[in-house]
Amino acid sequence: MTHFLDWATRLLARREGASNDPTLNRAQFNALTKQMPVLYCVLIANALSVGYTHAAIAPAALSIYFPLVLSLVCLARLIVWRRSQAAQLDDAQIARRLQSMALLTAALSSAITSWCMLLYPHGGPYEQSQVAFFMSVTVLGCLICLTHLTSASALLFVTGVIPFSVFLASSGNAVVTSIAFNLVFVAGAMAFVACRHHRDFVDLAQARQGLIARQAETRRLSDDNFRLANLDALTGLPNRRRFLADLEAMLAEAASQQRKIAVGLIDLDGFKPVNDIYGHACGDQLLLMVAERLRPMCGPRDILARLGGDEFGLVMTKPGDDADVRELGRILTKALQEPFDMPQIRVQISGSIGFAVFPRAAGTAEQLFERADYALHHAKDGKRGVVVFSAKHERKIREAGLVARHLRSADLEAEMSVVFQPITDTRTGKTIGFEALARWTSPKLGEIPPDTFIPLAERYNLVNKLTRVLLRKTLRAAAGWPGQLRVSFNLSTFDIASPGAMARIVGILKSEKFPIHRLDFEITETAVLVDFEQARRSLEMLKALNARVSLDDFGCGYSSLAYVQKLPLDRIKIDRGFIADIEGNKASRNIVKTIVDLCRNLDLACVAEGVETHDQLRVAQSLGCHTVQGYFFAQPMANDRVGPYLLRETQRLTAAGLVVGERMSA
Ligand code: C2E
Ligand code: CA
Ligand code: CA
Repeated sequence: MTHFLDWATRLLARREGASNDPTLNRAQFNALTKQMPVLYCVLIANALSVGYTHAAIAPAALSIYFPLVLSLVCLARLIVWRRSQAAQLDDAQIARRLQSMALLTAALSSAITSWCMLLYPHGGPYEQSQVAFFMSVTVLGCLICLTHLTSASALLFVTGVIPFSVFLASSGNAVVTSIAFNLVFVAGAMAFVACRHHRDFVDLAQARQGLIARQAETRRLSDDNFRLANLDALTGLPNRRRFLADLEAMLAEAASQQRKIAVGLIDLDGFKPVNDIYGHACGDQLLLMVAERLRPMCGPRDILARLGGDEFGLVMTKPGDDADVRELGRILTKALQEPFDMPQIRVQISGSIGFAVFPRAAGTAEQLFERADYALHHAKDGKRGVVVFSAKHERKIREAGLVARHLRSADLEAEMSVVFQPITDTRTGKTIGFEALARWTSPKLGEIPPDTFIPLAERYNLVNKLTRVLLRKTLRAAAGWPGQLRVSFNLSTFDIASPGAMARIVGILKSEKFPIHRLDFEITETAVLVDFEQARRSLEMLKALNARVSLDDFGCGYSSLAYVQKLPLDRIKIDRGFIADIEGNKASRNIVKTIVDLCRNLDLACVAEGVETHDQLRVAQSLGCHTVQGYFFAQPMANDRVGPYLLRETQRLTAAGLVVGERMSA
C-alpha cells in the first residue's frame, strides 16, 4: 500500500496523465470518449439523489448548492466529452487533455469526498448508510470508467477511497468500520483488475501500432517495387511496360468516348556517337536533358515515356487532326535540334517521330504501336523528321502482306535470278568485278524489287534458303567469266547471325567450282550490331576460305571506327546517298574524303556506290576514290549481257589505246 501511495504521489507531483507515446494516448483518448459521458451521468444522478434525501436535514449549501454546482460542472464536462473527437486534435492537445483529466479527477474526487464527510454527520443511520453507499458505488463506477487512465484511477484512490475509508473507520462503529474496509478492498481489487485490463489494452494498442507500421513498410516496399517496375530509373519517366499498359487503358477510354488518341514514337538521331565518344555518363545526362525538355511540351494528360535506349514514346489525348499532330511533331523535333549544354561539352542531336492516330490507323494498342513504329522508320529512312501513319502506308502494308504470301509459296529456284553490276577501276577504265543482285519475277505479281522482298524473306525466315539459291546461281554464272574478275555477293544479317546458315554457305562454297579467292561477301553493319561476336566468327570463317569481306552502305548508319577496326574487312563501300549529292553538298564531300582517308590508313579498299553522272565520278576521283559502281557505267545486267559488256569495254579501251590483258569471248 505504501508503495502504491508513493507512486500515486509522484504521479500527482509530476502532473502526469499522458504517456510519451502519442498513438497510445490517442487510443486511450478514444476509449475514454466513450466512457466519460457515462461517468458524468452517474455522478449527476447520484449527487442529486443524495442532495434530495438531505434537503431537510442538512444546510442548503451541502444539500442543494453543492450537488447543483457539481451537476453543472459534470454537465459541462459531459458536453465537452460528447463533442471531443480525437481525429480533430493533434498529439500535443490529446496529451494535455489526458493530463488535465487526471488533475480534474483528483479535484472532483477531493471535493466529493469532502462533501460526503461534511454531509455525513447531519443524517441519521439511513442517510449515513446512503452517503457511504453513494461514495462506494460512485468510486467503483468511476474506477471502471477510468480504466484507461491509470493515473486518474490512482489519484481517485488517493484522494477519495483512502480519506473516506479512514473517515468511516474513525467513527468507532464496527459496522461502519467494516464498510470502510470493504470499500478499500473492493476498490483496491477493482483498481488492480482495471490496471491489468489497461495493460492488456496497452499491449493491444502497441501490437496494432506495430501492425500498422508493418503495413506501412509493406506499402512502402510495394510502392518501391511499383516504381522499379513502372518507371525508368534514369529519367523518372514511365518505362515501356507502363507505357503499353497506359496506352491500353487510354485506348479503351477513347474508344468508349469515341475520341481520337495519337501514339508517337521518338527516336534520337546522333545519340549513339555522343554515347560512344563521351562515355555513358554523358549519354545518360543527355537522355535526362531530352526528357526534361520534352516533358513540359506535352499536355498534362499526355504520357511521355522512355521506351529504352534513345527511344521515347508519347500518347496524346487530344491530338486534333493530322496537321495538328504533325505540327506538334515539328515542335518536338525542333526542340530536340536545339543544342544541349552539358558540363563537358555542347552537343547537337536531332530526332525523328512516327505517329499513328486511333481509330484511323489501328484499333488495338499493339497495332497502333506497330504502326507508329512503321511511321517512325519512314521518318528515319526518308530523313523527314515527322511522319504520320496514313492510308498510303496502310496500302503499302497490305501490299507487303500480299507479296509475303506469294514469297512464302514461291518456287525460289525457278522464280529467283541474279543480275550483275560492274565495279570499275577508274584509273585503268577496266571492270574488276561484278556485284550480284537478286531479282524476283513472281508469276502472279511480276517483278518485285529486292528492297521489298529481301526484308520480307528476313521477316518470314526464308532468307537463309534464298541466300543459298542465289549464291549457287551467282557462283555458277561467275564460273564462266574471265579469271581475273571478282564477284561480290550480298549476305543478309540473318545469314551472318546464324552459325547453321554459315555452315551451309561454306558447304556450297566447297561444292561449287568457283575459286573462292575471287569472291567478295558484302555485309551491312546491322549484321554486326545484332551480335558482334557471332558476326566476327562468321566473317573469320569466310576469310579462312580465302574469300574477302566488304562493309556495305558505309556511313549511313551507326558504323563506328570500332567495328571497322575489329572486323576482318578488306573493303568499304561508300553509301550511294553520299555520292548522290557529292557535287552540291560539302558535308557529303567531307564524309567521302574522311572515309577514303580512313580506308587508306587502315589499308582497306574503297568503292563509291551509285555513281550516275560524269561529274559525280570526277568528284569521287578527286577525293581519292578510284573504284566505283553505278549507272554511269552500267545498270545491273543478266549474266548473258556480261560478255558483250566486257567486249564493248575492251573495244573502247583498245580504241583509246589503253587495253591490256585477257577478255572473255562474247
Ligand atoms: P546494295 O547492296 O547497296 O546494292 C546496290 C543497289 O544500288 C542495287 O539495287 C543497285 O541496282 C543500286 N544501284 C546501283 N547503281 C546505282 C546508281 O547509280 N543509282 C542508284 N540510284 N542505284 C544504283 P537493288 O538491286 O535494287 O538492290 C537493293 C538492295 O537489295 C541491295 O542494296 C541489297 O541491300 C539488297 N540485295 C540485293 N540483292 C541481294 C541479295 O542477293 N542478297 C541480299 N541479302 N540482299 C540483296
Ligand atoms: Ca551490296
Ligand atoms: Ca550498297
